[in-house]
Amino acid sequence: MTIDLKKLEVWFVTGSQHLYGEETLLQVASHSQTIAAALHESAQIPVSVVFKPTVKTAEEIYAVCQEANVAKNCIGIIAWMHTFSPAKMWIGGLKILQKPLLHFHTQFNRDIPWSTIDMDFMNLNQSAHGDREFGFIMSRMRLNRKVVAGHWQDEQTLGKINGWARAAAGWNDWQGAKFARFGDNMRNVAVTEGDKVEAEIKFGYSVNTYGIGDLVKVIDTIGDKAIDDLVQKYADTYQLVSSLQKGGEQYQSLRDAAKIELGLQTFLENGQFKGFTDTFEDLYGMAQLPGIAAQRLMAKGYGFAGEGDWKTAALVRAMKVMGSGLKGGNSFMEDYTYHFNPDNKLVLGSHMLEICESIADGKPNCEIHPLGIGGKADPVRLVFNVGAGPAINASVVDMGNRFRLLVNEVVAVAPLQSLPKLPVARVLWKPYPNMHTGCAAWILAGGAHHTCFSQNLTAEDLQDFAEMAGIEYVLIGKETNLYQFKNELRWNEAYFNK
Ligand code: MN
Repeated sequence: MTIDLKKLEVWFVTGSQHLYGEETLLQVASHSQTIAAALHESAQIPVSVVFKPTVKTAEEIYAVCQEANVAKNCIGIIAWMHTFSPAKMWIGGLKILQKPLLHFHTQFNRDIPWSTIDMDFMNLNQSAHGDREFGFIMSRMRLNRKVVAGHWQDEQTLGKINGWARAAAGWNDWQGAKFARFGDNMRNVAVTEGDKVEAEIKFGYSVNTYGIGDLVKVIDTIGDKAIDDLVQKYADTYQLVSSLQKGGEQYQSLRDAAKIELGLQTFLENGQFKGFTDTFEDLYGMAQLPGIAAQRLMAKGYGFAGEGDWKTAALVRAMKVMGSGLKGGNSFMEDYTYHFNPDNKLVLGSHMLEICESIADGKPNCEIHPLGIGGKADPVRLVFNVGAGPAINASVVDMGNRFRLLVNEVVAVAPLQSLPKLPVARVLWKPYPNMHTGCAAWILAGGAHHTCFSQNLTAEDLQDFAEMAGIEYVLIGKETNLYQFKNELRWNEAYFNK
């Protein structure tokens, strides 16, 4: 399950026209090549940027869009109008383009060459108005796109392209992706439900249910040698509590957990699934609820969410792809309990077991404790704290007439004290703009208790992602106030009922 973003391509397409003559077009092509190569080689941009020959006619524009649609590794197009490219020529191509588009509003020359500037220079370096013509047609056609304005060597500009490219990689990953749902939804829970048919139409991934017996059958094929090896790996990687060590009274439970992990991974590999969800209400034939298995499979890149929550499982997977190669991690998360101390208000996030070790601060402990629900043997789990720093929580909810992607910017903080009796991985954070407004806004927006917690993605990355999907995006951030926020939700209601 390696995620290699460099094998994905973003095509760099420059628009022009024949009006300017051969010499100017040669310069346009050479400048575009230079920019495309610089983006490709930039350490900030994780995907390959591929130069495409300048498009000068409606036919050439249509052809490159058509080619991009079917090119397997092409995840999007960066379009730039170095010169003026009359935008009626773009209508046909933009109408059929199915890949995300970034409109790069840049200019080859950073500075005005004060002493030498003449009309030749002006005619070549005219993206300031060429890109306005292109922007108009995309607005006129009501097309979602990312607009990045700035010089192509500017760090901030490269950072914006990086975020968009990562969103495009996540979006590309969803197309045709398969997610396995073991059992159904946790009984009577509302927010984890949703329209799987609509999700497949809108998002491109499918979710199908598998009987827990199908999984148990695969788990039962796992041999002792593989279990020995994985149990050894646990011992090498984590701090095992004494009861789980060889000779300890619960050593067999560790072996059971390893067997479940190997069985789950085999099932997912055989079916080419990119993630899964399970529920503690349907574990017939399983020794324990998967704890360490779900945690470690998430760390390998699989999407996961508990209680049948396929929307969050798929989101976790997309965000893992988007964050690939960056410092920090992405994990399934649940808002669990609050610290309402007036001087320091905090949310404690956790789950009954399944938090991804990619967000762990230091070496996790591997522990075993009873689980009050589910009626199975004590599950093995990794227990750890999560480091301080900026983060986001993201949630996709099904509003009936549309999907909403809700994001809250937060700042994670280290636990104030040790939590010796808490048998699960946990993270503490402060929501923006503050505890009261942040939590109230989340509730008003119908945000789920399940989220993907990210240490390495930004709210803007998620906004790009939502726009690629063509779904509603709602941000709770530093500027949020409830009066405006309620209005935004009302206005969105009208917009999406069009
Ligand atoms: Mn839950």
